[in-house]
Amino acid sequence: NIGEKRPVIRQLDEGAINRIAAGEVVERPASAVKELVENALDAGARRIEVAIADGGKTLIRVSDDGCGIAGGDLPLALSRHATSKIDGSDLLNIHSFGFRGEALPSLGAVGRLSITSRAAGEDAAAVSVTGGRIGPVKPAALSRGTIVELRDLFHATPARLKFMRSDRAEAQAVMDVVKRLAMAEPFAGFTLRDVTGGGEGRVSFRAEAETGDMFDALQGRLGRILGREFAENSIAVDAEREGLHLTGYAALPTYSRGSGVAQYLFVNGRPVRDKLLIGALRGAYADFLSRDRHPAAALFIDCDPQLVDVNVHPAKSEVRFRDPGLARGLIVSALRHALAEAGHRASSTVAG
Ligand code: ADP
Ligand code: MG
Repeated sequence: NIGEKRPVIRQLDEGAINRIAAGEVVERPASAVKELVENALDAGARRIEVAIADGGKTLIRVSDDGCGIAGGDLPLALSRHATSKIDGSDLLNIHSFGFRGEALPSLGAVGRLSITSRAAGEDAAAVSVTGGRIGPVKPAALSRGTIVELRDLFHATPARLKFMRSDRAEAQAVMDVVKRLAMAEPFAGFTLRDVTGGGEGRVSFRAEAETGDMFDALQGRLGRILGREFAENSIAVDAEREGLHLTGYAALPTYSRGSGVAQYLFVNGRPVRDKLLIGALRGAYADFLSRDRHPAAALFIDCDPQLVDVNVHPAKSEVRFRDPGLARGLIVSALRHALAEAGHRASSTVAG
């Protein structure tokens, strides 16, 4: 009899709310690394060092030389929906990676989090979060920037721990995230170390800060990350349509793979995994590749922030274009055109 037992509606406490939000934001070590490196980039860092142990399951440490956080602001930075990046008045005018103020409180809810930071003109300070509780701010020693350490991710949620893949697979996913962000910001230097078992660890990825203009820097960075083989087997793309600008490199059809292919897509500098854009990429190669082959590509769409909504999912890796057909059409036509031209060049070289 439903009438007799009324359900109780209660307000969840902050800890539970943070754990629920964490479920969307932090799926695995790589998503924690993504949030922390994005924070470093938003802080204007030019040198970012990432260290992980056991695939990031026991330790993730991100150090940067960015603007830092004043000691007095540390508890606020760890609170939900607290951000220095937007004032909330215009969600279609976002120029930073972050804007939701959710990453740090989420990480504090699912792991042992500690932050040491020093803002210009301030003393260094540190704070830890255990079991979702923000501890006291203590004096610390640090010359500049921020070090965020996340230990024992998901230690309190064994169900989540079971979903983790092998250390190797998680470390690979972390590397992929760092590479994507390194492509998004060629003027910053990145190092990824595996410190499993302690000590200095082993460098698993490094990209020195690029110099020169944006074009040179991007070309240098892409070459370093995607390799010479990709550089020698890809074509440059540069097209514009009604305010959407497409640049980047796409592989020649002869340089395709069956699986595990590198497809890197960016919208206004943000790495995205967008079905629409991946579908457009596939569509562009439809006449050049069989369905089981995938083209490698690094493509950048830049436009007025008003033309694209990044506030679609807490992980911020999906976007919604105001005119999805326009984005798709731009990719398909620009790539088809570039591929056809490359085909003509290749056949005329053979003929000549
Ligand atoms: P968001 O990035 O959406 O603002 P976060 O929870 O990731 O939310 O971070 C909260 C706030 O903490 C940021 O807005 C920023 O002011 C500060 N912060 C976080 N990480 C760093 C960092 N590495 N350097 C400087 N400030 C940081
Ligand atoms: Mg953030």
